[in-house]
Amino acid sequence: MALSVFRPGSITTQPVSSPIPGYAQTFPRPRHLYYGHVYDINFEQIIDEALFVFMPEPRSYTGEDVIELQTHAGPLVLQKILNALLQKGARLAEAGEFTRRAFQNGRIDLTQAEAVIDIINAKSDRSLELSMAMVSGGLKQKITDFREMIWNALSFAEAAIDFPDDMADEIETRPYFGPIENHVIPEIQRLIDGYNTLNFLRDGLKVVIVGGPNVGKSSLMNRLINKDRAIVTDVPGTTRDFIEESFTVNGVPIVVTDTAGIRDNPDTVEKIGIEKAWKIIHESDIILFTLDAGRTIQDGDLILFNKIGGKKIVLVVNKTDLPIDQIRLSLPDAWANIDTIRISALRNQGIDVLKEKIAQISLGSKIQTEQKIIPNLRQKICLEKALQSLQDAQAGHSRAIYFELITIDFRAALNHLSEITGETAKPDILDTIFTRFCIGK
Ligand code: GDP
Repeated sequence: MALSVFRPGSITTQPVSSPIPGYAQTFPRPRHLYYGHVYDINFEQIIDEALFVFMPEPRSYTGEDVIELQTHAGPLVLQKILNALLQKGARLAEAGEFTRRAFQNGRIDLTQAEAVIDIINAKSDRSLELSMAMVSGGLKQKITDFREMIWNALSFAEAAIDFPDDMADEIETRPYFGPIENHVIPEIQRLIDGYNTLNFLRDGLKVVIVGGPNVGKSSLMNRLINKDRAIVTDVPGTTRDFIEESFTVNGVPIVVTDTAGIRDNPDTVEKIGIEKAWKIIHESDIILFTLDAGRTIQDGDLILFNKIGGKKIVLVVNKTDLPIDQIRLSLPDAWANIDTIRISALRNQGIDVLKEKIAQISLGSKIQTEQKIIPNLRQKICLEKALQSLQDAQAGHSRAIYFELITIDFRAALNHLSEITGETAKPDILDTIFTRFCIGK
């Protein structure tokens, strides 16, 4: 296909069927970079200069024959080249199709395919770093090791089924079950804990701005994301508009949501809106409880504060630019130990201090390790199931339950682990994963 629009070497007017001058039958040589031109379908007009490389199967991204054309990146040029190829019978790749083929052809496992999606969607240096560790097979390797140890224990348990009862007590099981107890179970637990504490590095630390009407929530939001105009982004699936945006501090991705619309327009779809606001608050990591320096604490503030209880709160006192005689706010004694940052959204003062505080809270409480392999939600759920099966096997073993039952638990654990790397993942799970790609790659 690509051969029918590309000619190596200098410009040619030869018809496509005639031999390519100077290249005889050798074109295209595998993994050889050719300089040349992309032509329209009749070889009448040059569309662009390009580099061309042919990667024969199996040593290509998908494991199939692949041709890559490197062209100039202008949208019009790209469109014309695509059109020429489409007219020649090519079709556009579906979302994630190249990576799905790479997975199906065994070039990569499912954890690596998911990491490719994460690399494309990476919001910060840290999330990119994590995705890179995964794409190079970090989790895959761990799962392979776990599986090998479980296989050993399983083979032993299966052989032991045939031992006569009177021998069973004397069998030395430690070499087989030891690695499960001492290595596999604690390591799986560590991966699950890693998800629980560090997953925010991938998806972003969730920060939500709450506070009464007109305290300056929208203004604060705009300052945090460094945009002057009000931004309205629909969060998919909500009927009310929540404004959700992201920024990074010290390499940590932060997703900030402004719940402004809810309290300010209580008559519109009130119930749905408030329920959603509470859901956002409930799922958040940090709450920026915003107050207006020019107003005394309102009953609404106290009610809101008490309802939020248990969450990490930063008090943000806004409008500190007001003249001294207009300052009315005094914080209740009970709030004395809460982190408090004074800002002026209007004058863009104190915003950096607030960002630093957010980063400090997230890093201080969460990143104590250099752990790089952090499973995603799907992988974590499989790990939890595998862990449960292994703990069942362990409990069975310590209570000298029949080896038959222990083998069932080991097989279940193997199955859950294979789901992570994709061997036993069901087609609908694969569809869900690969449609997360927004591009062909
Ligand atoms: P929201 O309803 O909480 O989202 O508040 P807005 O961001 O819409 O702001 C409400 C009003 O307060 C607007 O008139 C803003 O210009 C004003 N405002 C916001 N931040 C500041 C500030 O730091 N200082 C002063 N003096 N006014 C502010």
